[in-house]
Amino acid sequence: MHTYHTPLDLVRQRSPERPVAIARPDAVATAARWFQENFRGDVFYAVKANPSPWVIETLAANGVTSFDVASIPEIELVSQFAPGSRMAFMHPVKSRSAISQAYFDHGVRTFALDTHEELAKIMDATGGAKDLNLIVRLAVAAEGAAYSLSGKFGVDTFEAPGLLLAARRATQDLMGVSFHVGSQCMRPTAYQAAMTQASRALVRAGVFADVVDVGGGFPSVYPGMVPPDLADYVDSIDRGFAEMMVHETTELWCEPGRALVAEGSSILTKVELRKGDALYLNDGSYGSLFDAAHTKWPFPVKLIRNEDGEAREVEGALKPYRFWGPTCDSLDHMPGPFWLPEDIREGDYVEIGMLGAYGVAMNTRFNGFGDAETIQVNDAPMASMFGLAKRSISVPKSDTANVVKLSKARGKKRRRK
Ligand SMILES: *Cc1c(COP(=O)(O)O)cnc(C)c1O
Repeated sequence: MHTYHTPLDLVRQRSPERPVAIARPDAVATAARWFQENFRGDVFYAVKANPSPWVIETLAANGVTSFDVASIPEIELVSQFAPGSRMAFMHPVKSRSAISQAYFDHGVRTFALDTHEELAKIMDATGGAKDLNLIVRLAVAAEGAAYSLSGKFGVDTFEAPGLLLAARRATQDLMGVSFHVGSQCMRPTAYQAAMTQASRALVRAGVFADVVDVGGGFPSVYPGMVPPDLADYVDSIDRGFAEMMVHETTELWCEPGRALVAEGSSILTKVELRKGDALYLNDGSYGSLFDAAHTKWPFPVKLIRNEDGEAREVEGALKPYRFWGPTCDSLDHMPGPFWLPEDIREGDYVEIGMLGAYGVAMNTRFNGFGDAETIQVNDAPMASMFGLAKRSISVPKSDTANVVKLSKARGKKRRRK
């Protein structure tokens, strides 16, 4: 991966014609170390958030050597770029052949499930293995999350005890519970609440969990969305864990995706045309801007202009713009608003920040686009939960459409060890 000091150097030296994924491995390394030092248990990286090889390698080099995978290609990716690491197959619905391959060819022992049928499938496809770690995914309330992840997966409260009991009987190794409070969870107490729900199900089943997996959902910073401190999330989880019916050796796991990688990448796009307040870019909803289009997230932006052999960041009076992507599909539209200088024009570059999670990962080749290269820079991300940059991204006062305001949760800061 070629390294430039900053995106300005890239633009000055190369004037790239295709979109460029700008990798900031230092930001991923910092996030990895934060979770290692502050989460009182094992950290599994949810690979789907960003499966780039440099991400897997950077995490592994910084102590995150457990991975939450959902498919055989993700398992192969982790085997290749973080050999010897531990993997948990946390997709609650798997094909029989994927289960067999994971177990027999890749040494995966941990499998999630949310039905009796899936439990039977796992037992069958592993030849009745006795060394499985079986994790029962519970459906929990997703209050305070930008994306709910409980509609599709998770056993409901009434059926959970029977499934927990069946999983307990099916393995001589670890039986656990997991949930996902929803992605970009803005409320730390959602974890404690979910753990209370999990605890009730365990009590009703009359079994102890060997693993409590609190899933992902840890937030990052976006314009108008400034989450509470990540330490507050860890505190909520510690409190929840302390109140759970578990035994002394019960393990605590988490599966962050977004929080580990959001700061780690941005996208450099080029303005191909301006029509009033509409900018036609060379990347869009079929590229790295899926969330900007489909959930209308107003990602932070910077204008970079290349003029007279010099690339510089242009500031000054801002106005709101919307973006169109390069494909011919009219769904390829990112409404923003994205605040950029009034005189933006064809040939300018727009760096779109905080796209490390669910950005590059969503890229398709639709209509012949989506062929982005990846380079590395050493400057700071546009915002940071880990002290690498400011903690908030301001939005003009008038622009409240996409603003989520939540008060900062209280809670005594506590550190592990
Ligand atoms: C997507 C996913 C995660 C990661 O979620 P984030 O909100 O990105 O932290 C974790 N666990 C499972 C099972 C997932 O599907």
